[in-house]
Amino acid sequence: MKKLFCLVVLFLIASAAPVRAEGAIQITANKFTNQFPTRLLFELVAKSNAIISKIALTTQVDGQTANARFDPPFNPDAQVTVSYEWFISRNYVPPGVTGQYWWTIQDDAGNLAVTPKQNFRVEDAAIDWKKLSNGKLTLAWYNGADNFGKALFDRSVQAMNYLQQDTGVTVDQPVQIWIYGNRTDFFRALGPGAREWTGGRAHPEYGIILINIETTALEWGKVATAHELAHIIIREKIRGPLGALSMPQWMDEGLAVYYETFPNKLDNQFSAPLKRALDSDKLLSLRSISGNFPFSAAEANLAYAEGFSVVDFIYRIYGRDKMTRVLQLLQIGGDYDDIFRAVFGFDTDGLENVWRVDIGAKPRALATRVGIIPAPIPTFGLSTDPTILQTPAPPAPTAAPIAPNPVTTTCGSGLGILSLGILGMLLLRRN
Ligand SMILES: [Zn+2]
Repeated sequence: MKKLFCLVVLFLIASAAPVRAEGAIQITANKFTNQFPTRLLFELVAKSNAIISKIALTTQVDGQTANARFDPPFNPDAQVTVSYEWFISRNYVPPGVTGQYWWTIQDDAGNLAVTPKQNFRVEDAAIDWKKLSNGKLTLAWYNGADNFGKALFDRSVQAMNYLQQDTGVTVDQPVQIWIYGNRTDFFRALGPGAREWTGGRAHPEYGIILINIETTALEWGKVATAHELAHIIIREKIRGPLGALSMPQWMDEGLAVYYETFPNKLDNQFSAPLKRALDSDKLLSLRSISGNFPFSAAEANLAYAEGFSVVDFIYRIYGRDKMTRVLQLLQIGGDYDDIFRAVFGFDTDGLENVWRVDIGAKPRALATRVGIIPAPIPTFGLSTDPTILQTPAPPAPTAAPIAPNPVTTTCGSGLGILSLGILGMLLLRRN
């Protein structure tokens, strides 16, 4: 009897103590569902002989250096169902983003299971896209005939080739351009918080561009596409080993505007807002537009014009080598004033002073020591979303008839879009 008792006890102990075993945790379901623009849904069902007590989801977005780990809530049990909802409104990612994800599951017996990495892709699946691609650049559209998409694609390829050649930058990352056909679809894809004047947005960290181009605005669309591609190339040029770095917004946008009209004919014509500001001595200080552009559409428009003008000035007076040097130093990072001092011999205010002389403006009255905090360029955090800096697009000028001006779009700082009221004016003048 005593012997039997011992056996029973041993049996009970053996039953109670979970046993670690190879393959002890089984995955019975592992699913990803794209529900852009609402959410990305990751679902898992797992079971084990012991209580599953820890589950984590890890995601790695292509183009990002850091992983993200999530610990979705669940009730510990021998069989568990768990899901993680990635709300795009909180952690924005544009359509076209791809990545991998995997789950890590642990039970109380000490068993550990890691699911194989699986791919996920964010897509605006509500739209029946048409696509053209050369392997490196893909352009997708749905509103407009085949020749509409072809015209934008051809211009994109041309702009890409020109930009890479002119800047010495090779973009290895595939570039995706999503052409939306109306404001409703476009703003739905941009997610919450987009300013109403936004016409396009570039996400250089993903190589993704979203632009709203109505079929009646093809010519503007070509310019906007070149502008956004310029943002991608410029950001690629200053990408450091730790990822994207910041640059003065006036320079980022100024370069993008400069390259809209490739092959760049440096145009000494000033846009209407720039002329008005010159005439009334109301230029924005360069320092004040080193960070985010003004909220006011009129001032943002002026900021684009000034950015273009200063970039044009640098190319004309100091030459391509100096601009290249600036970009090289921005790639290393550091204070903008130190970088300008190293290249030009003076800081932001000094650069503004010589530029003002060049364009015939009055000297600055006072030093404008506005504290500019370089906007960090988001890595994945961007998705939360530091990366998306949006600037107001220029309002249709009341004075000059700017014709149908789809160009009143804006560009975000790294992500920009375009606002080329300015460009529109330049183009109108040229044409
Ligand atoms: Zn821009």
